[in-house]
Amino acid sequence: MGLAGGGLIQAVSGAAVASSAFLAWAARGRSASVFGRSVWRGPRSRRAIALTFDDGPSERTPEILEALARHGVRATFFQCGANVGRLPAEARAAAEGGHEIGNHSYCHPLFCFRSRRFIEEDLSRAQQTILDHTGARPVWFRAPFGVRWFGVARAQRRLGLTGVMWTAIGYDWKLGADAVVERLAAGVSNGSILCLHDGRELRVRPDIGVTVETVRRLVPMLLDRGYRFETVSQLLCPTT
Ligand SMILES: [Zn+2]
Repeated sequence: MGLAGGGLIQAVSGAAVASSAFLAWAARGRSASVFGRSVWRGPRSRRAIALTFDDGPSERTPEILEALARHGVRATFFQCGANVGRLPAEARAAAEGGHEIGNHSYCHPLFCFRSRRFIEEDLSRAQQTILDHTGARPVWFRAPFGVRWFGVARAQRRLGLTGVMWTAIGYDWKLGADAVVERLAAGVSNGSILCLHDGRELRVRPDIGVTVETVRRLVPMLLDRGYRFETVSQLLCPTT
């Protein structure tokens, strides 16, 4: 039908490239909701932003909590169930500090090519561990590595979770504090969801010095620019 030999092969491989590009976007694109409802920013109409932390709690989470408390700022902590089980006091301190707790999986797996059952069990175990230790039942889920997959949508629905990506990410696990502050300060605007990390996946005693330093510098800087810090729920579901 007009496609012969090389033309057909080209068309087929073109479709394969297009579909793998689509899958990559569906899994990692911040605005993609293919594998479950997902949001990546709040309304542009209010000068409000949400600071979020993944991979905690860690031994140094209290330093982040102290830096936030100094300015009376609330944030959202996407905790890993395994870290919560290891450091329940630190996990609880985040909740008791008035911060929102989100679900960041139990053992921080890459969901690509994992079964639906594995994904659902991991999210469910995280949800239960967080509830047991902090008293908070998360309504927001941030996928490890920002990667969603088949099965995430159903797991989210069953657990009452909505996916949250980010507007700007700090790369605080690999850049220095100057670069992280610069990136986030340049990327922020009304409704932004900023992503940092108060742990490093499941590592014990991770070095999060860059993150602590970033919070100490970024929070007063953005307050000076007139931003109000809100939890993800406050940002996305404002009641006032
Ligand atoms: Zn993570």
